[in-house]
Amino acid sequence: MDRNYQSGKGGDLMEAPCMKVKCGVTNCTYNKSMMCYADALEVNAMEGKHKADISDETCCTTFKDKE
Ligand code: SF4
Repeated sequence: MDRNYQSGKGGDLMEAPCMKVKCGVTNCTYNKSMMCYADALEVNAMEGKHKADISDETCCTTFKDKE
């Protein structure tokens, strides 16, 4: 199956969301010229929280330090 497609409600195929992600975390492995080049991105509420009330309480879990 084409990786740009995923199964939607009822099993029909729908196009997966695809968007450009601008990111200021320049020490991340996936960051090139302030853009994210990860194949997929996971963002969660900050550690220890079940939900975020403001953007500062969200966290990119895909981040990987360039070292
Ligand atoms: S993985 Fe997260 S931190 Fe890294 S470039 Fe993408 S959005 Fe930024």
